[in-house]
Amino acid sequence: MKLDTGWVDSWMGASAAAIAENKALLNNLDREIGDGDHGENMDRGLSAVVTALAALPDDATPSAALRSIAMTLISTVGGASGPLYGTAFLKAADPLGAATELDGAVVVSMLTAARDGIVSRGKAELGDKTMIDAWTPAVEAAQAAAADGASPAAILAAAASAAEAGAVATEPLVARKGRASYLGERSAGHRDPGAQSTAIILRAAAVVADD
Ligand code: ADP
Ligand code: MG
Ligand code: MG
Repeated sequence: MKLDTGWVDSWMGASAAAIAENKALLNNLDREIGDGDHGENMDRGLSAVVTALAALPDDATPSAALRSIAMTLISTVGGASGPLYGTAFLKAADPLGAATELDGAVVVSMLTAARDGIVSRGKAELGDKTMIDAWTPAVEAAQAAAADGASPAAILAAAASAAEAGAVATEPLVARKGRASYLGERSAGHRDPGAQSTAIILRAAAVVADD
């Protein structure tokens, strides 16, 4: 489909469904190295996002939709991940300007701005066992795909696959940021829940774009 406001809407609908389906899994991952609420937090947030987007005017731009998502996540998700995802969507809106449809270059800028926003807010580096370990490979794969002339949908698919691999690759890592860092070496051997939710949300973006 065209990457317009309808795509943002469908992306969030598909994300909400996939997060709801994976709520127990995300809670369980967070129970191993955190406080067990990541699935709950994200499910509450994405449900509220679907409601908020339905209330936007028909002529809302993709950028306005991303800003609405950001404000909703900030006010409903809570925990560490709420402000981080909120900042991601807030920053993701910037490169879109007044555009009504995203091309490949804008998709890359959007993902890059989202990742940079999370880094500036949470100060995590690659390898700290956080959602950044999904976001940064996703951004790099998106950049590489765009350089190869891939379509916007293919750029998103490359980003999603890299995020999924990045989430798996958090398993052996020792957490250096967030609640999981309190466990020190004992955090190794478990997948980071925020990296997993990032992979789920980016896969939803790709699947919906491919329709
Ligand atoms: P809380 O830890 O407050 O219960 P959540 O469980 O919703 O919040 O989210 C935990 C996730 O947030 C972690 O799995 C990790 O991916 C992410 N996270 C925590 N701190 C940071 C940080 N400083 N930078 C990036 N991501 C972080
Ligand atoms: Mg938690
Ligand atoms: Mg919590």
